[in-house]
Amino acid sequence: NELYLNGAFVPPEAAHISVMDRGFLFGDGVYEVIPSYGGHFLGLEPHLDRLDASLAAMRLEAPLAREDWRAVLRRLIGEPPAADQYVYLQVTRGTAPERDHLCPAGVRPTVLAFAKPIKPRAPAIAEQGVACITHPDIRWLRGDIKSISLAAAVLMRREAADADALETIMHRDGWVTEGAVSNVFVVAGGALMTPPKSRLLLSGITRELALTLAHEHGLEFVERPVALDILRAADEIWLSSSTREVLPVTRLDGELVGDGRPGLLWRRMDALYQDYKARVRAG
Ligand code: PLP
Repeated sequence: NELYLNGAFVPPEAAHISVMDRGFLFGDGVYEVIPSYGGHFLGLEPHLDRLDASLAAMRLEAPLAREDWRAVLRRLIGEPPAADQYVYLQVTRGTAPERDHLCPAGVRPTVLAFAKPIKPRAPAIAEQGVACITHPDIRWLRGDIKSISLAAAVLMRREAADADALETIMHRDGWVTEGAVSNVFVVAGGALMTPPKSRLLLSGITRELALTLAHEHGLEFVERPVALDILRAADEIWLSSSTREVLPVTRLDGELVGDGRPGLLWRRMDALYQDYKARVRAG
């Protein structure tokens, strides 16, 4: 279980980063989480495209060429048929001599990547769904950047866990943005909808895949602002993320969503998603 740090593959205990690293001192960096099934990545290129966008938004230069990223990530997950794993990768602005918000020229980024097993979904989730709470979106206004500054997400997951819920669905000015670590879909009035991409939320790779699958299989959807009232009255609510796939939400702030069972449309989407994953796994 070697990890990758600044050009070398090393055992975790041999990997060291300076306390002056700007990731540690300022949360000054970006990251990605990329899933793989049986040694094949799901959405590798879109994830690397989003990494490029996050790096550019943070005014960081790409530390590796695309082929080098691919080679590093492939080596971390091993050859097919490998176990199901995600790769976590992060790039920080690097280690500077002083703790100064303004980074001097010539500092080289710190590049870290490692693989970890993906836990299979508990069967109870498809039968019972998951619980969520709602909370005002207390984050900064650049949710589109996959920044390692995750204070709000950490707090929101804590709040959720304290309420025996999995995730916190956030809203700003009465409009749903996204989950602390996921995107949100809603089925209301017979329509499947999800908030449109904007600077206020992360453009999820799983969100995009779910929309593509919906389009290919004739499920109608709209990308449109979703009011908190619509969320509260929804027949179905889903969460999406790379490691959790598409999850049915059956309780919101302690109230049942719809009839309190995972919805019919979710079942269709999950079948499409599982089928897509099986094709990824088969290479
Ligand atoms: N929104 C936020 C804030 C996230 O942290 C994540 C992923 O962890 C997502 C959405 C889902 O993105 P993806 O589907 O690319 O994993």
